[in-house]
Amino acid sequence: MPLYRLEAVVLYHRYLGEADKIVTLYSREKGKVRAVARGARRPRNRLLAGTQPYSHADFLLFSGSGLDTISQCELKESFYSLREDLHRMAAAAYVAELYDLLIEEGEKNEGLFFLLLSTLHLLADGEEIELTLRYFELRFLSLLGYQPQLSQCVHCGGPLREGPLRFSGQLGGVLCPDCWGQDGRALYLSRGTLELLKRFLTVTPRTLRVLGAAPAMRRELETVLKACLEYRLPRELKSRRFLALVQGEGP
Ligand SMILES: [Zn+2]
Repeated sequence: MPLYRLEAVVLYHRYLGEADKIVTLYSREKGKVRAVARGARRPRNRLLAGTQPYSHADFLLFSGSGLDTISQCELKESFYSLREDLHRMAAAAYVAELYDLLIEEGEKNEGLFFLLLSTLHLLADGEEIELTLRYFELRFLSLLGYQPQLSQCVHCGGPLREGPLRFSGQLGGVLCPDCWGQDGRALYLSRGTLELLKRFLTVTPRTLRVLGAAPAMRRELETVLKACLEYRLPRELKSRRFLALVQGEGP
């Protein structure tokens, strides 16, 4: 049976029988992969730590008929704090669900792997969870090829010189005042929020904490990016409800 190595993050695990589990990995080499971890639920099993949700590890797998099997794993980072704090856990679950819903199995994309890793690091540090998620959403959409049009009108291609703007999730970008009618559900977008979105595309994640954003701007960012994502999603996200609950917004 051919053996191969993957550097990967565990997105999900699901119990299988008494002692095994099926894990969904997002790997640097092959994108999303599902594999069986035999015995991984037993205490002291050598696969136990590396197959917990959000663990980052090097895996050795062998392929056979059906799902591939994890033979060994070496833990690089457990992201333990993501399983300890409800808010961080909800945020990580949201990120994992987006990877699960919008990415097909076996499509390699190193950018998406490094985005996942840097997002988990920021969430584990627990700073600026909401801004981290907004930054993640925009980068994630861009890496999937759905980067919203932010520098000119998405409908007419004209400049965004003067006057108020709207944002269309369906058309995937900003609408100038002449083109608002192209999407009846287009959202109000302030100039400040537009500038912040543009900066998200150029800054490194570690600078998020110094960007700063007023509460009104944060709400706008959230609705605008949610509109973009919802247009791409096959169904509602289960994790969004959990996230809203722990943020104290209620169901
Ligand atoms: Zn226009």
